[in-house]
Amino acid sequence: MKENNYDVVVIGAGVAGMTSAIYLKRAGLNCLLIEGETPGGQVTKTITITNYPGFKSITGAELATKVLSQVKELGVDILYQKVENVKLDQDMKIITLDDQKEIVTKNVIIATGRNPKKLGLPNEEKLAGRGVSYCATCDGALFKGEEVVVIGGGDTALEEAIYLSSLCKKVTLIHRRDEFRAKSYLQEELRYIDNIEIITNANVTELIETDGKLSHVRINKENRVENIKASGCFIFIGYIPQTDYFSYLGIRNEQGFIPTNANMETTVKGVYAVGDVREKEVCQIVTATSDGAIAAIHLSKALND
Ligand code: NAP
Repeated sequence: MKENNYDVVVIGAGVAGMTSAIYLKRAGLNCLLIEGETPGGQVTKTITITNYPGFKSITGAELATKVLSQVKELGVDILYQKVENVKLDQDMKIITLDDQKEIVTKNVIIATGRNPKKLGLPNEEKLAGRGVSYCATCDGALFKGEEVVVIGGGDTALEEAIYLSSLCKKVTLIHRRDEFRAKSYLQEELRYIDNIEIITNANVTELIETDGKLSHVRINKENRVENIKASGCFIFIGYIPQTDYFSYLGIRNEQGFIPTNANMETTVKGVYAVGDVREKEVCQIVTATSDGAIAAIHLSKALND
């Protein structure tokens, strides 16, 4: 069955996609929001948010619920279903759902986000929010004055280790090789910070729990096992963008992220990308909502002209 009565279809109901839907609906456009899992996306996995303007402290789940209720009150149509792929038929975008039904529209906003890569250790999931974190900006303040470890050797790991060193008593950076892929200025900066210890050629083999919280991280460095005291373990070993569904559009970079211009337009007319799925450096709630608003405003102007 084909439906084509929507001006815009937003794929992904994280804060970026939901913000697009709010702006589109308020501009009088008929929009459909499609979500394959839980509305709120990555935000719902953040325990406490203390850097979103207007809220001194709010849980991720609470913020996501507030945005979702705003979307619902505006009367945006929401479809809870997985998208299988998106193909082009001249200027029409054919969205195939997992039950093979198709939705046809001229305009799509992609807001499917990215997921942090996991180490894959047995209790990693259980300790998420109890010591294990994938976002220093979100959770760093919870470990003020404490000892933490950071895992990874890319730009994110080094930037976040530097950030955490200003809050925490001690930061141990653990990297699996002896060379970092992070930019050289970050490597240089890191070496001059007294409370950062660098351990290379080491793999994290266990996350040790005491009283339901992370207490130590076990590493294996060149066949020597060591337990490092840490109430926080920040894992920055890369991200996986949720963009497999868009492979037919030819809009992804080598890593699978989607480059856009300042209006959030991709190289395909009528296809926008917003939030963490975009090729960009700063991925915060505030930048995701900002992307969502920019795409919707640009699109509404184009459609109302
Ligand atoms: P990344 O560059 O892919 O680095 C991931 C790091 O994690 C690598 O050091 C990698 O080790 C390590 N790693 C991967 N899998 C692992 C595993 N299973 N166990 C242990 N370690 C593992 O990821 P990123 O740092 O998040 O950066 C992503 C992109 O964003 C990059 O292109 C980066 O340049 C960009 N970025 C730029 C900035 C900036 O310019 N200010 C800031 C942040 C991010 P190996 O090196 O051994 O593979």
